[in-house]
Amino acid sequence: MDCIFCKIASNQIPSEKIYEDDYTLAFRDLSPVSPEHILVIPKQHTDNIYECESDVLIYMHNALKKVVDKLGVKDDGFRVVFNTNKNGGQTVGHLHMHVLAGRLLQWPPG
Ligand code: 5GP
Ligand code: ZN
Repeated sequence: MDCIFCKIASNQIPSEKIYEDDYTLAFRDLSPVSPEHILVIPKQHTDNIYECESDVLIYMHNALKKVVDKLGVKDDGFRVVFNTNKNGGQTVGHLHMHVLAGRLLQWPPG
């Protein structure tokens, strides 16, 4: 499958890695929308948060905590976003968690 995040997970496309384990990879978004903008992905392809198995989310939650600790943003706060399909604004069809931090984020999103 021609999937850009599968290629990042297998190092065919380089990325600025923040955290990695057997199941997940966290790396900096190419076009950050906040001072800290990290993507957490499962290494094994799954399309989105609806299609994935629940255990994938447990691994991603573990990775999220590692990322938050590494960035040092736990107390100031951060936002986690799973854009899903067209109306959710998903542009890459490989499950990914956006971790946004480093500034006061507005609500609601556009
Ligand atoms: P989505 O719009 O699907 O929720 O998020 C996809 C994200 O992937 C976007 O924020 C986009 O900037 C990021 N992205 C797309 N291609 C690449 C890439 O090749 N490398 C990195 N690091 N980020 C990418
Ligand atoms: Zn993929």
